[in-house]
Amino acid sequence: MADTPLRLLIIGAHPDDADYSAGGLAALYRAAGHVVKMISMTNGGAGHHVTAGPELVRRRRAEAAASGQVIGATYDVLDNPDGGLLPTLEVRATVIHMIRTFKPDLLLTHRPNDYHPDHRYTSQLVQDAAYLVTVPAVVPEAPHLMRDPVIAYLPDDFQKPYPFSPSVAVDVGSVMDKIADMLHCHTSQFYEWLAYNHAYLEQVPADDKARREFMLLQTQKRLRPRADKYRSLLVETYGPQRGAAVEYAEFFEGCEYGAPLDAEARARLFPFAR
Ligand SMILES: [Zn+2]
Repeated sequence: MADTPLRLLIIGAHPDDADYSAGGLAALYRAAGHVVKMISMTNGGAGHHVTAGPELVRRRRAEAAASGQVIGATYDVLDNPDGGLLPTLEVRATVIHMIRTFKPDLLLTHRPNDYHPDHRYTSQLVQDAAYLVTVPAVVPEAPHLMRDPVIAYLPDDFQKPYPFSPSVAVDVGSVMDKIADMLHCHTSQFYEWLAYNHAYLEQVPADDKARREFMLLQTQKRLRPRADKYRSLLVETYGPQRGAAVEYAEFFEGCEYGAPLDAEARARLFPFAR
């Protein structure tokens, strides 16, 4: 176990974004005795084709909590409307308050260019908070931080105005089952809404055990091409032998508005990437 536990905060827009994009890193952090908190900026109340509103919000809160429990992390789901998040001063103050309260060593969020407005505004809110968390006169009721956390972006495949360019690679092969266990908790999403929205409902198995296998397979299909795409960074990180052999990996890109994700920060915050 770690002497001084690191603190990882993942702020996503929806109640499955944090674990979807950084579930492996979160699982590795927890396995090493570090502290992990995941946050959804919205209540998830628009993420379904049959139900919506309070009933869906209750369901998604329970799914997020269950996902966090898989690795022993907390998962907070805020009350902002799904599909209606705005980067207001009020929400910015909430984000500043949350960051100051949790005091993350590493803070992950979406990139500012993304198909979903909730993702874009979540990114903007975190970016807007990045410097202000150190300014005492802003949100004075929450004691300011002396230093910015390291901030990094979650991966995506959007190309414009510039493509995701990872600074860090993490071999998540040892925790693929944990990632699948976490995502398996989001029944309303991966087996219902997203399956409907992305037209793969007929591929979703009926029983729980088969669904869990389906989830692992889907996660492998998603993460394997990414490992190949950024193979050179894996080789740079893990050396030629292991770097060439890594099957599944997560990648993160340093954000210029946080503390620098330099060699020292990479060694400290990603100690298993060696
Ligand atoms: Zn999302």
